[in-house]
Amino acid sequence: GAAGFIGAAFCRQLLDEGHSVAGIDCLLPDLYPAATKRDRLTSLVGHPSFTAHHLDLRTASAAAVVAGSDVVVNLAAMPGLTPSWHQFGTYLDCNVRATQQLLDDLVREPGAHLVHGSSSSVYGAEAAGDEDQPLAPVSPYGVTKLAAEHLVSSYRTELGVATTVLRYFSVYGPAQRPDMAYAGFCRALIERRVLTVTGDGHQTRSNTFIDDVVSATLRACEVRADGAVLNVCGPDEISVLEAIGVLADELAVPAVVEHVAARAGDQRRTRGSSQRARELLGWMPATAVRDGLRRQARHAAGSLTSGDLGQVRFPA
Ligand code: NAD
Repeated sequence: GAAGFIGAAFCRQLLDEGHSVAGIDCLLPDLYPAATKRDRLTSLVGHPSFTAHHLDLRTASAAAVVAGSDVVVNLAAMPGLTPSWHQFGTYLDCNVRATQQLLDDLVREPGAHLVHGSSSSVYGAEAAGDEDQPLAPVSPYGVTKLAAEHLVSSYRTELGVATTVLRYFSVYGPAQRPDMAYAGFCRALIERRVLTVTGDGHQTRSNTFIDDVVSATLRACEVRADGAVLNVCGPDEISVLEAIGVLADELAVPAVVEHVAARAGDQRRTRGSSQRARELLGWMPATAVRDGLRRQARHAAGSLTSGDLGQVRFPA
């Protein structure tokens, strides 16, 4: 998933720290344009320690690429909640079948440790607490993420693949995936459009800033805590309407909100505990959500084009 939102940021950090990185991606066009992913890869390929491999894990073996690796980080997936109700085959193939194919390759790489990217969606409508909460996904997406976790666990206990699973909680920040809510709110604010909120807007998230996700993933690669399953979540809980308030303030644009029906399978509340990651990885989220949202808004204003962008003002 080297061309993805998280994958590209993570690869950049690895390269900055002097690692050699072989990045795999198939530039999946389903959720948002492949061109966005190609641009991210282009920003990485100039680095002398980066090699890009256009490979679809659903159908092709990654054996030759992962051979001799210290760590393999699986951030390749079909994310997003709503399309998972009507495009289930793609979710099944990219999130489950592709994970199984990669695990098969890793059976023959006993020196490699797998860090697998999972999601708070495995918990279901309420994800509040530590990793011992019940696993009860309420969306097809969450079901495929949980199935992948079970595969990772099976390959670990039965076939000896060393693994760490990271359950990310709604990741946000500069260059957020364009299909995600805050990215859409920033675009709408900058273009002076109405913001569409699903449900009453009081649903909450313990959003995780992209830099914190990258640092947690890096720590997991360094520590290689075999068998660990860890929440990776931000330090605060914020409702959708509160988040819109922060973005609108930062962009100095009044938010006009319309509400539409809640999304089937959406989470009502996420408030994860990262205590276990703190103990095992020595990692803690560093970015308060209001600071991270302000950074996302500023980045969006800098990268989006709009007729009257000149009117967007930033507080000092
Ligand atoms: P993304 O869609 O931006 O990145 C995923 C990348 O994987 C894409 O570039 C895609 O082309 C690639 N990919 C998908 N299927 C592939 C296949 N079969 N072969 C090769 N490449 C393939 O998504 P993201 O937001 O960066 O998410 C990365 C991981 O983190 C996913 O596992 C996702 O479920 C998980 N996650 C993300 C969030 C979030 O808020 N972004 C939250 C929880 C979990």
